Amino acid sequence: MKPIRRLLVANRGEIAVRIARAAREGGIVPLGIYSEADAHAYHLEFMDDAACVGPAPAAESYLDIARVIGAARELRADAVHPGYGFLSERAPFARAARDAGLVFVGPTPEAIAAMGDKIEAKRRAREHDVPVVPGYDGADQSPAALRSEAERIGTPVLVKASAGGGGRGMRVVTDLAQFDEALESAKREALAAFGDDTVLLEKYLVRPRHIEFQILADTHGNTIHLGERECSIQRRHQKVVEEAPSVALDAELRERMGAAAVRAARSVGYTNAGTVEFLLDANRDFYFLEMNARLQVEHPVTELVYGLDLVRLQFAIASGARLDLAQRDVVPRGWAIEARINAEDPGNGYLPATGTIVRFEPPAGPGIRLDAGVRAGSEISIHYDSMLAKLIAFGPDRDSAVARLSEALETFRIDGVRTNLPLLLGIARNAAFREGNTTTAFLVEQAGLIDGSAEEPQEAALIAIAAVLSDPRAWRVGHAGIPVRLAGTRRTFAVTGSQRGDETWQLRGDPSGEFELDVAGDRIVVRMEGKRFAGHATVDPSGVAVVYDARSYRFAFAPPPALGATGGTAAGLGAIVSPMPGKIVKVEVRPGDTVLERDLLVVLEAMKMEHRIEATRDGVVKSVAVAPGALVAGGATLVELEA
Ligand code: ADP
Repeated sequence: MKPIRRLLVANRGEIAVRIARAAREGGIVPLGIYSEADAHAYHLEFMDDAACVGPAPAAESYLDIARVIGAARELRADAVHPGYGFLSERAPFARAARDAGLVFVGPTPEAIAAMGDKIEAKRRAREHDVPVVPGYDGADQSPAALRSEAERIGTPVLVKASAGGGGRGMRVVTDLAQFDEALESAKREALAAFGDDTVLLEKYLVRPRHIEFQILADTHGNTIHLGERECSIQRRHQKVVEEAPSVALDAELRERMGAAAVRAARSVGYTNAGTVEFLLDANRDFYFLEMNARLQVEHPVTELVYGLDLVRLQFAIASGARLDLAQRDVVPRGWAIEARINAEDPGNGYLPATGTIVRFEPPAGPGIRLDAGVRAGSEISIHYDSMLAKLIAFGPDRDSAVARLSEALETFRIDGVRTNLPLLLGIARNAAFREGNTTTAFLVEQAGLIDGSAEEPQEAALIAIAAVLSDPRAWRVGHAGIPVRLAGTRRTFAVTGSQRGDETWQLRGDPSGEFELDVAGDRIVVRMEGKRFAGHATVDPSGVAVVYDARSYRFAFAPPPALGATGGTAAGLGAIVSPMPGKIVKVEVRPGDTVLERDLLVVLEAMKMEHRIEATRDGVVKSVAVAPGALVAGGATLVELEA
């Protein structure tokens, strides 16, 4: 036994906070790291000491093995926990930690190397009688060989980075004519994210469920599973909502899949906590996808249902303790559901959002757990993951867990940065979700949830306008009207408001009419044309955040129309602008090219993902303002189409 006394938490955000809390509970001193951009980050509040590991880009700080090991030395750590993401599944890091005499809270470098490579992991799984998704994982990586294998497998076929994770380096091909572009783009994303562009091909299963098993293995040969989690609700192949247990499993299937998961873990001599992922089809056939050699984002749902603390168990295993749990002792109790709160815009291709959180008011109550990585004042930059927090609801059964989740999401307030809270609430209220009718195609099939979260009703806009007009900081000159221009997701609300009495205003523009306001703090009641509606609104330097009818909306202050412009907005004139700051990785068009609406113009990399910038209409390219490698600001013109 080698007890841990001082633990370096080699991560940031909510998982760093989670691990630091568990350390303190266990009498272990938590020690942190941070990049220059994170000098005031929330996770540092939970550390006894911390060291800077370099500049903002993760590659130069959180991913720099030498610097992280250097920080461990400087802070006199005797162990390191990698969290998830960053260095968690990099075998060289686990090896460097071991070489530096540190206890690595995770599996051995050998197990990480075997499982981190999807091709190698599938080979081992097959050898141990674990069914895998059919496809191609051979050595010949030439585009011609891959293309002919794709033809053999048939569409839809999935191109997948062997080193992949987080849905990156993955492309679904439904028409083989698009295979070459998909292969090239998957390889490019994989190389940028993982430094390795080896790919495998898999038959793309239609409407499967994602079911994964939590594994715990000690260093004395005991390997058990802690049941399943269902993580079918995904966007861009990344999990959004996860739960334990799954409605799709009965005791018999749980036992069969659990046994296969334990075999997969044993195939690499796995130790510590890990997760074996499967897809389950409508015939109840299951296929091994991969094993994640680390703690998962969604581990809390297992903790709540099994009454265990996985991080503390990780410490114990890493110190050499024997598991004092037998498979038969592991019995689920109740139901837990986790929702990931991300800074992103579901109505706009899940584009990551940046900014400063001006208000952060999480819900509380029975059966509610919040694992947050931010607080009011936190800066959300383009450098790191867009996940802000995880809300986990627990109840004696699934219905009560869903009800608690829904209620908690309704009262969660985050202002300053756009989040997916409205979408999460839509999911919690959705009939198919409530029935447990979920597959990985859920968010595509329930597209109405996403549109519904994007389009704001006029009532929400009126509450926002009321908040601006009644803001004591508003610009007032005598009796002249106050101009207000607020941009929603699809349209701009432009009015001039003139005060008629204490509470009465006349609005001219869109919308127009007379309305009465009743303002108490951020609660606003509006009466207009015999109707009464109420909501909450806060004004910040960039816009107004509104909660109306249990949904949140954000309106940005819109610039006045350009003088002399005849064609309307800038976009109407043909400028295609960057939706956010990022790096140009590919330019697909040249001046003079004819493009059709939705044709690919430019590929932008932001927050570690590639984003397709497409033509907003048919036209001819007038000019191209960027070249590959260029860094662009949000709003920068990328391509101009002829007017
Ligand atoms: P990553 O390591 O990037 O998370 P995974 O292999 O774990 O990639 O897959 C992530 C998700 O992508 C799965 O949960 C599933 O929704 C989808 N997926 C992966 N492989 C397949 C497949 N062969 N057929 C259908 N969906 C798949």
